Amino acid sequence: PTTSSASKLVVLGYASVGKSSLVLRFCKGLFYEYQEPTVGAAFLTQTITFGTTETKLEIWDTAGQERYQSLAPMYYRGAAAALIVFDITNYESFIKAKNWVKEVKQQSQSNEILVLVGNKVDMESDRKVDYSEAENYAIELNLAYFETSAKSGYNVKEVFIEVAKMLPQTPIDQKLP
Ligand code: GDP
Repeated sequence: PTTSSASKLVVLGYASVGKSSLVLRFCKGLFYEYQEPTVGAAFLTQTITFGTTETKLEIWDTAGQERYQSLAPMYYRGAAAALIVFDITNYESFIKAKNWVKEVKQQSQSNEILVLVGNKVDMESDRKVDYSEAENYAIELNLAYFETSAKSGYNVKEVFIEVAKMLPQTPIDQKLP
């Protein structure tokens, strides 16, 4: 690679939308029907290489439970990017996602990259959030919108690659040893 960056990415959203599952699918290629709830926050690192660009992502998976919500600013402050995840079969989780977008936009630097993710598209027959409603909301707020399935793996890599592409890159030969 000729350019590289290391960035912190946080994953936010309501409980059980699939935050841990998306991170696990992307970093390890695994999926569990029963995923242990995250307590507080945990992180995994993954390097994405496309073309001559290498991006190291430190991916922070946060707990969605209300009782941990007050801790969230500790994780998203200083993050270069945030994935805000909801479950397309749970309308409430979409409302929570909008609240997260509002909160992160208010609290962090304006250049933070935000991506909206509608997860669990393998459960299309139980869909409660229309694609167009989520997409229109994302367009209005100038966010990228992706629909994924941590279960099947559909579109998961694409989300993280999109984030990596939006991050500022530093040419390697300009970096200090
Ligand atoms: P988190 O609380 O947001 O981190 O959610 P988890 O990753 O713990 O997932 C909650 C539950 O949803 C678990 O039982 C997962 O197996 C399940 N799950 C996560 N992603 C998907 C998905 O894309 N499709 C389906 N069908 N289930 C999923």
